Amino acid sequence: MADLIDTHAHLDSDRFEADLAEVLSRAVAAGVRVMVAVGITAASSQRCVDLGSTYPFLHPTVGIHPNEITEALAGDWERIVSLASSPRVVGVGETGLDRYWDRTPFSIQEEWFIRHLELGRRLDRAVVIHCREAETDTLRVLKDQFEKHGPIRGVMHSFAGLWPFADACLGMGLHVSFSGMLTYKNAADLRAVAGRVPEDRIMVETDSPYLSPHPLRGKRNEPANVVHTATSLAEVRNVTLERVADVTSRNARELFRLS
Ligand SMILES: [Zn+2]
Repeated sequence: MADLIDTHAHLDSDRFEADLAEVLSRAVAAGVRVMVAVGITAASSQRCVDLGSTYPFLHPTVGIHPNEITEALAGDWERIVSLASSPRVVGVGETGLDRYWDRTPFSIQEEWFIRHLELGRRLDRAVVIHCREAETDTLRVLKDQFEKHGPIRGVMHSFAGLWPFADACLGMGLHVSFSGMLTYKNAADLRAVAGRVPEDRIMVETDSPYLSPHPLRGKRNEPANVVHTATSLAEVRNVTLERVADVTSRNARELFRLS
C-alpha cells in the first residue's frame, strides 16, 4: 500500500526513550516512512531537532505547548526562535489554547499562541495548533490574525470539533488533521466531520504516545498505528486506503514542505 505520513508524534517523549529505534522500524514496516516530530518545550524541541539529524525521515517542529508555558525558563522562547530558523525545522508549535487542563493562565496562553503564529509567519513555517475546550477563543485569535495578515499556513491538529469549527478553520487556510479519536466507537460526529473536509486539506496523525486508536486504546500509541486512523478515514469517505494515503501524504508534504 501507499505510504502514510504521521503528521504529529511526540517522539522525544520519555516513553520512547528505551525503544525508539524499534518504534521507528515498526512504523517503516507499516508504511509510515515519514513522521513530524512535534516539540512541546524548549528542551523537547531541541530533542526533536536532534532526532531529525539522526533520522532524516523525522521532520521536527519547535514550540512551547500551552500547558508547558508556566514551566518555561528565561531564554526558552529565544531558544525556540533560534531553533525555528534552522533549515530542517518544518513547523512552529505545538501551540494553541487549552481550557481543559488550565495549567497556564488563559491570557498568557493567548499571548504565547499569538507569538507562535507571528513566528510561523515571519519564518514561513507551518503552525501546529492545539485546541482543547477553547474553540471560541481559538477562532477569535485566528480570525484576528487572518484579518490582519491573510491565510494562515498551519494545521488544527487532532481535530475534535464539529463541522462549523472545521469550516471556520478551513476558511482561514488551515489544514485539519485527524488522530486515533476518529476510530472511537462514540466518535460518529467526528467521523461525519472527517467525511466533509475537502480532500486537499485533510491529514492523519497519531499524537503518539497519546490517543491510541481503537482497538489499542489505553496502550502507548506509536506512529505505525496511524494506519487505523487512515482506515477509518477511508471508510467514512468511501474511498480506498491507498487514496487516503495518497492525498494525506501529498497534503502533509505540501503543508510542511517536506523534501
Ligand atoms: Zn501533541
